[in-house]
Amino acid sequence: MTTLYDDPAAFADEALEGFAAANRQYVALVDGGVIRSTEMAEGSVALVIGGGSGHYPAFAGLVGAGLAAAAACGNLFASPAAGQVYRVAKAASMGGGVLLSYGNYAGDVLHFGQAQQRLNAEGIETRTVLVTDDIASAPVDQLEKRRGIAGDLTVFKVAGAAAEAGLNLDEVERLAIKTNYRTRSLGVAFDGCTLPGASEPLFTVPEGQMSLGLGIHGEPGISEHDMPTASELAQLLVERLLQDKPDDAGTRVVPIVNGLGTVKYDELFLLFGKIEKLLTAAGLEIVEPECGELVTSLDMSGLSLTLLWLDDELEQYWAAPADTPAYRKGSMARRAARDTTQLTEAIQETEQGTPAAIALGNQAVAALETVRSVIEEHEEALGQLDAIAGDGDHGIGMRRGGEAAAAAARAARGTGVRNVLVRAGEAWSEKAGGTSGALWGTALIAVGDALGNRESYTAQDAAAAVEAFVSAITTLGKAELGDKTMVDALLPFAAAFSTEHGAGTPPVQAFKAAAAAATLAAEETASLSPKKGRARPLAEKSLGHPDPGAVSFGLITEGLAATFESLPNTKSADH
Ligand code: ADP
Ligand code: MG
Repeated sequence: MTTLYDDPAAFADEALEGFAAANRQYVALVDGGVIRSTEMAEGSVALVIGGGSGHYPAFAGLVGAGLAAAAACGNLFASPAAGQVYRVAKAASMGGGVLLSYGNYAGDVLHFGQAQQRLNAEGIETRTVLVTDDIASAPVDQLEKRRGIAGDLTVFKVAGAAAEAGLNLDEVERLAIKTNYRTRSLGVAFDGCTLPGASEPLFTVPEGQMSLGLGIHGEPGISEHDMPTASELAQLLVERLLQDKPDDAGTRVVPIVNGLGTVKYDELFLLFGKIEKLLTAAGLEIVEPECGELVTSLDMSGLSLTLLWLDDELEQYWAAPADTPAYRKGSMARRAARDTTQLTEAIQETEQGTPAAIALGNQAVAALETVRSVIEEHEEALGQLDAIAGDGDHGIGMRRGGEAAAAAARAARGTGVRNVLVRAGEAWSEKAGGTSGALWGTALIAVGDALGNRESYTAQDAAAAVEAFVSAITTLGKAELGDKTMVDALLPFAAAFSTEHGAGTPPVQAFKAAAAAATLAAEETASLSPKKGRARPLAEKSLGHPDPGAVSFGLITEGLAATFESLPNTKSADH
């Protein structure tokens, strides 16, 4: 149980504020997370880590010399929004590129992915290395599907040390990928964790039992076992991890025993002692191990064992010094403080537009008002549709996103189309949450970037905007036709638009025809079985019902078609 808080909804933010205040010699609070408050070398790679809150010392506690340059910090167990990641990375960037690294979870992948696109588009070269160490989450031939747990630490540590040593982005990325490949973990839970303000834990483990293969967000384990003795548990963890060891593993290994929140250090040490003997008996040499709380899960009772299989270069970076609030190693000359105040301010500049550009910007504001009102009208129905096989939040998520986007667009009145749409997209992604929030946010930003703040638009520009929307959604979400997602309405929309455009139909009429095609295609998703998103595990239930994201896309485009028809001087409308 978490006892101390004012408002549970503000828990993560208030905890982060206090953390930064208590660790000012290491970190400074920025909009979206924390960055190093000590000097970094000009031109060095910025390792930006992050994820949900509730995992301390991950992620903010690992920001400092020799480790991460910054951490984007989401709400409890929830990915940070793309805008947060973007702002944090931008503030942390030193001119040598950005490496984003975080655990492999769908929400994080979407939001960090969107931030990466934006950073790259602005000329800040950004790459991603996902942490996929949890051997319980997918078989060894599907490493890329595994989720990230305590292996976060080894990947961050090696990448951070490489960045500190002045290696370039290619090298830091290569080392991070290699470290992830050579890191394997397995965890167990004795009891679930409880979110602040909640009266029930996210899951429970029956008395006298242990759950094997837990996640770190309150996902229950994959199998239940009778509670073992410490020796039996050590045996189980070591055996499973040795079976899963990478090719070329070698014989030098870093074992990490990680407590998840409420297991006492003495118990962790006791277990470590037994693990150490088993590894040594297997002919392995132990190098600079760790035993303590490194990646936690609120007040979860449980622990994990991670093995990092070293080679010479990984050993060098694993052993390198680090100096962060929660992780210190070796000795490092004390770093001078830097002035972090301008780092966040620089990000907010606005370009004004000419009157013609502003008039078109106002049409974009009107379009976003339409999006908001269409969603509001159908919120309940969309929620019910999502509840059939998903989690029931599509209506509320879309409403939050649409409202935030319309409000941001109104606030950006007086500038051009690009500014309006980019602000709206950022706000959408930040406020909506969920898969659809990340996708719509990214897509609006992409359309804004494609259109720019211009004084007039041609039919060709409209086609480019549709293309940008489609490409943003498919690049980020990676869904294909037939997966039963909004893409099943989006691609028919784009195809119809393109056919009309090719035949010389003006954009407003082409958009109308495309919206009709989207609506029809959305209805037809009823016969499909979901292959992506949260509905996948409940595929059977979904049969016979259309996909909520496809339906909302059809409704929104129909609403927009009507708005575009009613706008003055429709030839230069923004779609
Ligand atoms: P969540 O799935 O996170 O709860 P929502 O309920 O708001 O988010 O949105 C669900 C919709 O998101 C689905 O109906 C589907 O149309 C869409 N979706 C899910 N995954 C993808 C994806 N990878 N690409 C495109 N659309 C997707
Ligand atoms: Mg949902």
